[in-house]
Amino acid sequence: MKGLRMHEIVIIGSGPAGLTAALYAARANLKPLLIEGIESGGQLMLTTAVENYPGFRDGIMGPELMVEMRAQAERFGTDFVTGDVTEVNLSVSPFTLTTAENIFKTRALIIATGASSRLLGLPSERELIGHGVSTCATCDGYFFRDKPIIVVGGGDSAMEEATFLTKFASHVTVVHRRDTLRASKIMQEKAFKNPKLSFIWNSVIDEIKDAEKGLVTGAVLRDVKTGDTKSLDVDGIFVAIGHTPNTGLFVGKVELDTNGYIVPNVGASTNVPGVFAAGDVQDHVYRQAITAAGSGCMAAIDAERYLEGILE
Ligand code: NAP
Repeated sequence: MKGLRMHEIVIIGSGPAGLTAALYAARANLKPLLIEGIESGGQLMLTTAVENYPGFRDGIMGPELMVEMRAQAERFGTDFVTGDVTEVNLSVSPFTLTTAENIFKTRALIIATGASSRLLGLPSERELIGHGVSTCATCDGYFFRDKPIIVVGGGDSAMEEATFLTKFASHVTVVHRRDTLRASKIMQEKAFKNPKLSFIWNSVIDEIKDAEKGLVTGAVLRDVKTGDTKSLDVDGIFVAIGHTPNTGLFVGKVELDTNGYIVPNVGASTNVPGVFAAGDVQDHVYRQAITAAGSGCMAAIDAERYLEGILE
């Protein structure tokens, strides 16, 4: 039999958005409950040094930043439970959230479930993420000064990241699985004009080397038309094949756009009164730790005001 717990406010997600929302809600004496998934900490757990989060002049490791954020939220009284929410009922307030062990009822809900970068699905990619394989050029580009790198993908993200990365890298090779880009014409033109950028068409990465050494030394590319393979020596591989917002639980319950992102209403509110969204789950444009944290703060303040309104 599952335990039934009642809360004023529940936050789902333990990345910068969820933890900042928890910090603000805890300091507003709302005794928030934060439900963190099995892989807690969000995307920053997959990065190494974070050098663009204000306040850390020498940078901070992504996982360490998340440990600090979690401890800060805990210090002010956030209650944490680990477990994946498997079902939500947002049609009546208090809302119901179900995990394997508990049923939670809450008057306010902050969804901060984030987005996951799509990955190629190679075992070597999984092993080398944060060690030469990255999904965030803004975060990690700096580490590839004067080094050759690959960007995988043919959309706007890939063109934007490839163009940005030419500021650091000695050369950027875009590897795309077709012979035409999906990216907008303007982004394509910018990329084609860049002398530090070249393209390998109709190709996919079969393997990233060298998992045994624990760092990226190159990639095995396969031409999908001919089946021919060849190796390319690089120090970094940026996978830019899109993101998937973690909104599967909320389909048909909260308004989502055609790509599955939560549609923000006023501030951090959604189309369901009492349900708020923060971080990458509602943002496919900025996707930074600092913007996620900022929107987590907004969501907590909006939720507090909502609760004051309905509890008066
Ligand atoms: P996207 O448009 O879905 O493009 C993903 C790219 O990755 C496609 O070229 C796709 O190849 C390739 N791809 C997908 N799965 C792959 C796999 N398993 N192996 C190899 N390649 C794979 O994603 P996005 O570039 O992240 O853009 C998402 C949305 O955000 C778009 O609407 C875009 O316009 C927008 N965006 C806008 C800007 C901007 O305006 N500044 C910047 C970034 C993103 P195929 O082409 O063969 O399908």
